[in-house]
Amino acid sequence: MLNKKSVDDINVKGKRVLVRCDFNVPLQEGKITDENRLVAALPTIKKLIADGGKVILCSHLGKPKGEPKPELSLAPVAARLTELLGQEVKFAKDDNVVGENAKAAVAAMKDGEVILLENTRYRAEETKNVEEFSKDLASLADVFVNDAFGTAHRAHCSNVGVTKFVDTAVVGYLMQKEIDFLGNAVNKPERPFVAILGGSKVSSKISVINNLLDKVDTLIIGGGMAYTFMKANGEEVGKSLIEEDYVAYAKEMMDKAKAKNVNLLIPVDSVVAKEFSNDVPFRTVGEGEMAADELGLDIGEKTQKIYADAVKDAKTVVWNGPMGVFEMSNFAAGTVAVAKALAEINATTIIGGGDSAAAVNILGFGDKMTHISTGGGASLEFLEGKELPGVVAANDK
Ligand code: AMP
Repeated sequence: MLNKKSVDDINVKGKRVLVRCDFNVPLQEGKITDENRLVAALPTIKKLIADGGKVILCSHLGKPKGEPKPELSLAPVAARLTELLGQEVKFAKDDNVVGENAKAAVAAMKDGEVILLENTRYRAEETKNVEEFSKDLASLADVFVNDAFGTAHRAHCSNVGVTKFVDTAVVGYLMQKEIDFLGNAVNKPERPFVAILGGSKVSSKISVINNLLDKVDTLIIGGGMAYTFMKANGEEVGKSLIEEDYVAYAKEMMDKAKAKNVNLLIPVDSVVAKEFSNDVPFRTVGEGEMAADELGLDIGEKTQKIYADAVKDAKTVVWNGPMGVFEMSNFAAGTVAVAKALAEINATTIIGGGDSAAAVNILGFGDKMTHISTGGGASLEFLEGKELPGVVAANDK
């Protein structure tokens, strides 16, 4: 059980609080095109303002590769945050991130004021977790708050290194939610516990499959990776996406499921076409019916029904990866059906980040899920059972 101190466990009145946020937003010609991450950061920031902290925000943005790149400056974020918060967020413009400007800005702060530092990846030390930059960041603060889950699987100066040089390091509300759901609900699930895995490749989710087989009651496989399992089962899979090197592994996982009494489900029918395209004819085929020149691009209707039934009585469901090529309308039905099934059940539903989070939101089921993770890579590593450096670094309760 992960039990980390949070912003609710500390008193920041009059203290300088450095908050690592995830302000890695898409920008087009200096304009923010999706501000979800800014909005998501507000509860933690507002709480610290209300408690009378001097709030110093920091984040990375894109990949400036260790040098100042004006197009990756956080200046537009400071301007938008000012509007969202209804109070000034002063931008401490400093190519060195923690240079004279930033130091002077922090020294002049009053309780409840907010400043934003420049892109932490302007400094080459950031991604290498070099002490010098960690110490520079820590020199600005009495307390550190980590609210950036998207980078929690990386040990960088601004989320891990800095914690060594401050007395108090806690998590913010966003991080706390990720820990509660992806960490604790998955490790101490209310049963039945069902995992649904899809997406393109077995190879990228090996450790997730292996780890979840030790925990779940049912494991549902869909997406491109299902065809490697179907091949391991001796089925004809035509030109479907197959990873030959992982057929034996898929077989091993099916054997492991049997030995552990886990109900492992793979598709019984597929929507197929002769090309990876939305502009060619498509049809649904059952077991043994796929032609050698066809490829599977979605789960079929029978499979949709079986999968929906399999989650009906679940109490915890975790889902990572789409059931088909949902970006193409002809092959989105399987992913829609699973999203609908999860929206209708009375269970804790947790969506791992990346494509499945995007799919659930695009398809309009976002508000029906208990938790949609904000971190792609970080959520996968959590599901693999790994310890995330950004989480470990926060103080225990
Ligand atoms: P991942 O990043 O591994 O979660 O994979 C997500 C991608 O898998 C999406 O872009 C889907 O289009 C793709 N995908 C899902 N099902 C299939 C399939 N049957 N064949 C090829 N790609 C697929």
